[in-house]
Amino acid sequence: MSTRNEQLFERAQRSIPGGVNSPVRAFRSVGGTPRFFTRGQGSRLWDADGAEYIDYVGSWGPAIVGHAHPEVIRAVQEAAVGGLSFGAPTEAEILMAETLCARVPSIEQVRLVSSGTEATMSAIRLARGFTGRDAIVKFEGCYHGHADSLLVKAGSGALTFGNPSSGGVPDDFAKHTLVLDYNDVQQLEDCFRNHGDRIACVIVEPVVGNMNLIVPSREFIDAMRALCTKHGAVLIFDEVMTGFRVGPVGAQGLFGITPDLTTLGKVIGGGMPVGAFGGRRDIMSAIAPLGAVYQAGTLSGNPVAVAAGLKTLELINAPGFHDRLAARTKQFCDGLVAAAKEAGVTFSAQSVGGMFGLYFRDGCPASYAEVMQSDRERFNRFFHAMLDAGVYLAPSAFEAGFVSGAHSEDDVAQTVAKARSAFARVC
Ligand code: PLP
Repeated sequence: MSTRNEQLFERAQRSIPGGVNSPVRAFRSVGGTPRFFTRGQGSRLWDADGAEYIDYVGSWGPAIVGHAHPEVIRAVQEAAVGGLSFGAPTEAEILMAETLCARVPSIEQVRLVSSGTEATMSAIRLARGFTGRDAIVKFEGCYHGHADSLLVKAGSGALTFGNPSSGGVPDDFAKHTLVLDYNDVQQLEDCFRNHGDRIACVIVEPVVGNMNLIVPSREFIDAMRALCTKHGAVLIFDEVMTGFRVGPVGAQGLFGITPDLTTLGKVIGGGMPVGAFGGRRDIMSAIAPLGAVYQAGTLSGNPVAVAAGLKTLELINAPGFHDRLAARTKQFCDGLVAAAKEAGVTFSAQSVGGMFGLYFRDGCPASYAEVMQSDRERFNRFFHAMLDAGVYLAPSAFEAGFVSGAHSEDDVAQTVAKARSAFARVC
């Protein structure tokens, strides 16, 4: 007898390529049947067979206050009653823009879109239009959504499949994307020495969450800022994942660095489709209708989505929210490291704010090459043992995980107890 999850997956594959609407959901990397969820509440998810999970994916980041937070649901319901979309300005959009400008000092003006991909794609077009240059710099293993010029040695799903680039991207697009190693200051300096007058922008995940979790060195972050300023290139911090997640002002707040443009998504939509890009007023003024760089969206600033985002941003602004989130996430990582040590398993873990990385290798990696040394087979066995025990981790050894404000000390203690048994049994 097949389970309901298996039946749904089989049915899904008949009408949806691979049975999913985003590749990593298909469990290709870890094997087995994806879970089809019917409900989420706080730190928990329930699947189609009625199994309950403590969730450490959080919809890949947006669920920072937990699933179905009653105040977020109420805000969405109230907004929906007033109409789903007007394709015209609303006051809620101004409130969202004002909130983002007030919370993130580098953002003087901001435009709302409907996804992280749209935000990064638009920010790059803007950087090219503003500078009049074509080349962009990105780092191997960083993922910035699936716009053509960014699917060049991308991480995340592409990395998981061991397929560094995508079909359908013309070489003519890819040739403008210079791909460097993360945390390699020398390469960055050489690149600017050789191509400085061609580079429109550097786009970077200021803490990487798409090749597991990688923390930048101080020298690397400083070098990016200094070289962009010296050569007139636009520094884009892609904070779609880190924004309001690693701290109240994102990664730029943690490092005290002012990027020229910032892209946001995930948390600012609170589970609904919202993205944003913003930054220096002189750069943002180059966008239509003020300037010559075109960018638009039928559902941009959608009132229902913005209501969810605004309520979420209000909830995480409560005093101590990010301190508690960081402490809980660290409790999770420390607990797992101790459990692995007891079982004699080579394993490490680290967290930044509410984001974490788990690595089946000795020590935390600092580069793409080091991440690739992780033992994927072990991760896959651990993943399935945890899934069977009711813990939902990201179904790939190359993704960061997320803790929410709804995760209690007891949730984490239960997870660590399950991990102790999983390490001992399957690793
Ligand atoms: N940038 C980063 C850093 C991301 O992690 C993601 C998605 O995971 C994106 C951009 C793309 O966002 P979206 O999936 O909303 O298009």
